[in-house]
Amino acid sequence: MNKGILFVLSGPSGVGKGTVCSALRGKIPGLVYSVSATTRSPREGEQDGVNYFFKTHEQFKRMIEKDALLEYAEYVGNYYGTPREFVEKTLAEGKDIILEIEVQGAIKVREKFPEGVFIFLMPPSLNELKMRIVGRGTETQATIDHRLSVAVEEMNLLHHYDYAVVNDEIDLACGRIGAIITAEHCKRERF
Ligand code: 5GP
Repeated sequence: MNKGILFVLSGPSGVGKGTVCSALRGKIPGLVYSVSATTRSPREGEQDGVNYFFKTHEQFKRMIEKDALLEYAEYVGNYYGTPREFVEKTLAEGKDIILEIEVQGAIKVREKFPEGVFIFLMPPSLNELKMRIVGRGTETQATIDHRLSVAVEEMNLLHHYDYAVVNDEIDLACGRIGAIITAEHCKRERF
């Protein structure tokens, strides 16, 4: 059986990664989503095991010690990490999986999965990004400023990615990501 393809989707806070991923769910059947572990508190409406596995610092530390994470990173004061076993099992079953993670984590995944496909979701402009983070209304002013300065740093690391996709409109961005997924399958097609 062919192994599935590992896709990584990164992009600055507020660019709409979550919205794009939700929209992709309806459009690309068979694509599996990795659920990350985090020490961040749940936002309103977020569910444990669906959006994230919400962990205490102690629990997260134990996951690191047990080598249960494929990668992890600190982002704006919280830890985020990808549970390893689920990713490995999904790929071994021949299914594609997508990880929605920040840039430092993506660089670590690249070291372990050089054959992975790395996609960077871009805002149409920095101003638009700021408006989206503010509009979300879930962040304090200090967190907004911090997330924006991290966003600028992250956009300077675009060269680590195979593709850049501008998220001007959800449907267009999803279409572009769908095209990338199709192209990557065609690239690997063998008799
Ligand atoms: P948020 O707090 O807005 O849900 O996520 C903050 C950042 O953490 C986002 O850039 C998101 O992509 C990233 N993130 C989510 N899960 C993971 C993960 O498992 N590993 C890493 N390295 N970053 C993650």
